[in-house]
This record gives sequence, C-alpha cells and structure tokens, in this order.
Amino acid sequence: MAWAGSTRRARLPKDWARTRRRILRRDNHACQTRFSDGRMCGAPANQVDHVVPGDDHGDANLQALCQWCHTHKSSSEGGTAAALTRVRTDRPKPTHPALED
Ligand SMILES: [Zn+2]
Repeated sequence: MAWAGSTRRARLPKDWARTRRRILRRDNHACQTRFSDGRMCGAPANQVDHVVPGDDHGDANLQALCQWCHTHKSSSEGGTAAALTRVRTDRPKPTHPALED
C-alpha cells in the first residue's frame, strides 16, 4: 500500500485501513483542501490526512486529500492553509505550448 513505507504508520491505529476507507467515502474521494480564496481543491483524493497533526484519529480530525495537497501540507506541517496557498502560487506558471516558439 502507498503508505506502507511512511514513518507515520507506527502512530496509526490498528484499524487505520478501515478508517481510511471510511473517510475517503465520507468525503466522496474529493480533496478537502480549502484555499485562502475559498475554492476547494476537489481533486481525486487517495490520502487521508489529520487536520490537526497528532494522535487524534477521530473522524472530525480526518479529511481526504489528493496526493499533491497531502505532500505539500505534510512538508509544511504545523503551517496554515495560507502556507499551502503560498507553496501553490510559488509554482511556475505553465505556459501554453501554443504560445511558445
Ligand atoms: Zn488537493
């Protein structure tokens, strides 16, 4: 499984696989990240994230995230949604191929 190599696995409860499936279903497999402008990511989610990092594995503290958002949230864990948006705006703007010579 994708998370098998994660160091965070040791802290996850025994029934995590089942919890994970339940949260993904609850959130319709859509990424729950809310950007600072109010838009929701909504990308296909295959990750379950702890809203507040730690050992609270309750449903209220779990959310479905897409791979991209989870990676960027985890790399700035403890940061806010603003940090997430900052990372996002720092990405180079893709140039449409038709506009390049
Ligand atoms: Zn996302």
